[in-house]
Amino acid sequence: MKREEMLQKLRSTKCFDIAIIGGGATGMGVAVDAAARGFSVALVEAYDFGKGTSSRSTKLVHGGVRYLEQGNVPLVMSALKERGLLRRNAPHLVHDLAFVVPNYSWWEAPFYGIGLKLYDLLAGKYGFGASKLLSREETLERLPNLESEGLTGGVVYYDGQFDDARLLIHLAMTAAEHGAALVNYCPATGFTRDFEGFVSGLTARDAETGEEFTIPARIVVNATGVFTDTVRRMAEPDAEDLLVTSQGIHLVFDRSFLKAESALMVPRTSDGRVLFVIPWHGHAVAGTTDTPVESPSLEPHALEEEIEFILETAGRYLTRQPTRADVLSVYVGLRPLVKSDGKTSALSRDHLIHVDPTGLLTITGGKWTTYRHMAEDCVDHAITLGRLDEHPCPTKALHIHGYMENAESLGDLQVYGADAAAIQALAASDATLASQLHPSLPVIGAEIVWAAREEMARTVEDSLARRTRALFLNSKAAIVMAPRAAELLARELGRNEAWAQEQAVVFCKLAAQYQVQ
Ligand SMILES: Cc1cc2nc3c(=O)[nH]c(=O)nc-3n(C[C@H](O)[C@H](O)[C@H](O)COP(=O)(O)OP(=O)(O)OC[C@H]3O[C@@H](n4cnc5c(N)ncnc54)[C@H](O)[C@@H]3O)c2cc1C
Repeated sequence: MKREEMLQKLRSTKCFDIAIIGGGATGMGVAVDAAARGFSVALVEAYDFGKGTSSRSTKLVHGGVRYLEQGNVPLVMSALKERGLLRRNAPHLVHDLAFVVPNYSWWEAPFYGIGLKLYDLLAGKYGFGASKLLSREETLERLPNLESEGLTGGVVYYDGQFDDARLLIHLAMTAAEHGAALVNYCPATGFTRDFEGFVSGLTARDAETGEEFTIPARIVVNATGVFTDTVRRMAEPDAEDLLVTSQGIHLVFDRSFLKAESALMVPRTSDGRVLFVIPWHGHAVAGTTDTPVESPSLEPHALEEEIEFILETAGRYLTRQPTRADVLSVYVGLRPLVKSDGKTSALSRDHLIHVDPTGLLTITGGKWTTYRHMAEDCVDHAITLGRLDEHPCPTKALHIHGYMENAESLGDLQVYGADAAAIQALAASDATLASQLHPSLPVIGAEIVWAAREEMARTVEDSLARRTRALFLNSKAAIVMAPRAAELLARELGRNEAWAQEQAVVFCKLAAQYQVQ
């Protein structure tokens, strides 16, 4: 993906079939679907692709055991099917993970055992492996760091795990391969109207140069996550809120807190939440919380009580109590939750498709796991609303960019799938690109160069937060990496030394927010 080529497509296309606002999982899913059906597609993202919630998830591709407890069987079945399709279409990015639910009371084994059997059953042919009851010894074998006092046994079940920001970039590359024009750092600033007053396109500004664009489109899709209502009000100032926002934080620790290939799942914490501690990129990630938030922001802050809650709850189940000093990174995401006040026209209890009187089509809610299904639903509506030609949705069997089976053999470059060979070649061509940017993380210089050349990384933050996951895994290490990343980026993007220095400073300021004092 080359940003200048993308901008050129925006300038030269007379009228797009579908223009999308928002480059998170939802908007990018719509771009892939629409472009793969053969429609002309534009997508504008205000910041970087995945800067919002879509890089800040728990990293699970799952049916949602929690929804099962709430009796929402259709929702769970649909998500389990999507889980299976995603593993099939992006095997380099989605892998099975065993989750162990530890039992400390006599009733927990039959209770969770039966519930998780139902979970297996609902997955049907998309199943990831059969759940089973574990003895006390088997439970400790799978989770050696688990608190053993009072432990009676456990239940193991299987779900999927992924790297959210990496999948997002590979979705962008998939959409681009099907002809979509995708531009980051290009906020939508307003809408154009036809003679009847209906939305007929959008206006956007290149945040790098200030160039203004008018992007005519037969349908405009608003896929801006927690910013959905703000964008709706750009078209209709009196539009009532569809969403409420809630935030969830995660704490990242050294892998020594969870020396296991399995994840720990606590189905009911002291205040009725679910808590996961999962192995991810050689670290242990613990989360999450669910705290109502008044108004959305781009870089939400973790609350003290959220940090304490995760430290305390994780400590109750682990042999070693994690402390604030053990936190390598804290990241915070905002959930776009659809209001259930009867005023909205929910087409599904999971996601929401809404059409404003202006003709603006909004898609919101749902979860990462169901992005494909959401996109299919959205494009089906866009076809009707925009009177577009009918084209069947091909994404159930569409390989996602980087598709590769047995990508484990690529080691640390596994998430790049088929692109790993090109990154290895870059490293082989220049020894300075083969070395790690920090001894604690496997990120090498070639990945930064690749991100700038092929993945539209524009800043140090793009390359260390989303193209690689350094900021999310270890914020202090990421700060140390910043000057070298800035230098490599400056070279690739034709920027000067002053730009590189400023980039490193800006990044370090941001990274400080990912630390717990
Ligand atoms: C803590 C947490 C954990 C989660 N864990 C999981 C999980 O493990 N598995 C799972 O399946 N789901 C999970 N989810 C849900 C999932 O992450 C979200 O449903 C999904 O990422 C939402 O994607 P989105 O594209 O709708 O929103 P976003 O990713 O927020 O994207 C919206 C984008 O719109 C852009 N935007 C806003 N205004 C404009 C404008 N004017 N012009 C252009 N662009 C604009 C923003 O910059 C942003 O990038 C989790 C959510 C949270 C909060």
